[in-house]
Amino acid sequence: MGLVRCARCGNEREGAGKVGLPGSLGEDIEARICAECWREWLSTQIRVINHYGLRPAQREDRDKLYELTREFLQLAVPVSEV
Ligand SMILES: [Zn+2]
Repeated sequence: MGLVRCARCGNEREGAGKVGLPGSLGEDIEARICAECWREWLSTQIRVINHYGLRPAQREDRDKLYELTREFLQLAVPVSEV
């Protein structure tokens, strides 16, 4: 696990590593998010899921959650997903 220049906090820190998310989102997080910000999102995401009443088993809700993940981590939405 190497150092990354984190897109969210701007620090050079240990990267989040494999986060198990699909496609470009998982790749962006592995390349551009530090372990600390990732952990912060993991605890925040529980509140986000409850707040929006998301059911991550459903595709539509999962897409919404991925969108919120990008927003929280300050990763721009890739052109292919606009
Ligand atoms: Zn960070």
